[in-house]
Amino acid sequence: MQMDPRTILPPYRIKVVEPIPFLSAEERQRALAEAGYNPFNLRADQITIDLLSDSGTGATSAAQEAAAALGDESYAGARSWFRFRDEVVDLTGYPHILPVHQGRAGERILFTSLLKPGQICISNTHFDTTHANVELAGAEPRDLPCPEAADLDSVEPFKGNIDLDALERTLTGPEGHRVGLVLMTITNNGLGAQPVSMANLEAVRELCRRHHVPFFLDAARFAENAWLVSQRESAYSDWTPRQIATRAFQLADGCLVSLKKDGLSAIGGFIGLRDDDLHAVCEANLIASEGFSTYGGLAGHDLERLAQGIREVVDPAYLRARAASTARLARLINDAGVATVQPAGIHGLYLNAARLLPHLSPRDFPGHSLGCQLYLDGGIRCAEVGSLYLGTVDDQHQLVTPAPFELVRLAIPRRVYTDTHLEYVAAVLADIAKDPERVRGYRIVSAPRLLRPFKVILEPVTATEGAAATDA
Ligand SMILES: *Cc1c(COP(=O)(O)O)cnc(C)c1O
Repeated sequence: MQMDPRTILPPYRIKVVEPIPFLSAEERQRALAEAGYNPFNLRADQITIDLLSDSGTGATSAAQEAAAALGDESYAGARSWFRFRDEVVDLTGYPHILPVHQGRAGERILFTSLLKPGQICISNTHFDTTHANVELAGAEPRDLPCPEAADLDSVEPFKGNIDLDALERTLTGPEGHRVGLVLMTITNNGLGAQPVSMANLEAVRELCRRHHVPFFLDAARFAENAWLVSQRESAYSDWTPRQIATRAFQLADGCLVSLKKDGLSAIGGFIGLRDDDLHAVCEANLIASEGFSTYGGLAGHDLERLAQGIREVVDPAYLRARAASTARLARLINDAGVATVQPAGIHGLYLNAARLLPHLSPRDFPGHSLGCQLYLDGGIRCAEVGSLYLGTVDDQHQLVTPAPFELVRLAIPRRVYTDTHLEYVAAVLADIAKDPERVRGYRIVSAPRLLRPFKVILEPVTATEGAAATDA
């Protein structure tokens, strides 16, 4: 797959830059030890390339900053609100839009307004805060990913799809009356950044309609999903990404959107709704907790950046260049002998740490080990998606149930790093792949009961301990 720069050239040039720090190997070693071997505890000025998250980390455009200068900070009825609302209504077609400061605020407001205790929320895969907010509303989150998703190497085009048979079985089975919501995450962030097909969304809509269950989208990456649909689903090859995104919103009864991703801004989100009564309940909840319904916890200048960001993000030239850049990084990494979840998505690449580090068992947290090594060798920060994050541990912090996969997510911020930065990441990874045995395991020293990855403290397992543990 040779990429022609004439077709994948990013449709922008860089106007404002920010220096990135370079630390010595000794300084990185000390910084990671002081952070308790938890990358969340590192300071930004200790990081050379930050791939921890694509959320709120993108670069804004000159047009967004110019719009921000026009931000109207009136408490109610600000001009910036109407600009934002008109843009979102135009994109989604929903009559009711409620602004929120970020996605999870919308989750809490929607779930506490819509779900009753004991009900089930079904998803292709709940994002972690979404999962937590369903539980906080007293309901049960249930993931029904399609079977292809379990094969990390399969190049099926839509591994983000929901398992339609399992969904229908649940809706028609003894628990059917308990299903209070079906929520489709596009793209499927929890499962390798894989897209959801329009055919899958259409089938979900039909099932939900037949069983009178509300159908919502969790559409943080509505534009990236639309781009992958335009490339992989033949019925939509003539559609623009914006047309596809609008069609997806039209299929559902409403949506939750974190605009920290495809809003191309540092903060923001919205709830989109059709139902008048649900809107009234959500609006009261919003005013009580986030702010008046014409700002929802956002400043006028944020609403302006978002209104412009939503326009820019569906530009096919931008999406094509971004997808090509991630695909190119995937190819460099794969050529260096490191497997990634296939096929490559757009906002992130998921490294298969278990395959690269077979000398480490899940209780050594191979994903975390690889993430730490990327920092020690290259100042690169990323996030584990494996047993440290998803496994269960006992009171002595020993791993009891490992996660199904040991992955590391390299999240790619929007419009921030050039292909040269990404080549650097691939080079650091290639050096690790030449001598993977030197990567040590880690063990947990202390961990909170809730939200473990954010606050856990670890330490490296020494070479002799590691050997003893392998012999045992
Ligand atoms: C980021 C994200 C959320 C939560 O949004 P925040 O803005 O981080 O609160 C919910 N769902 C998905 C799929 C996300 O990617």
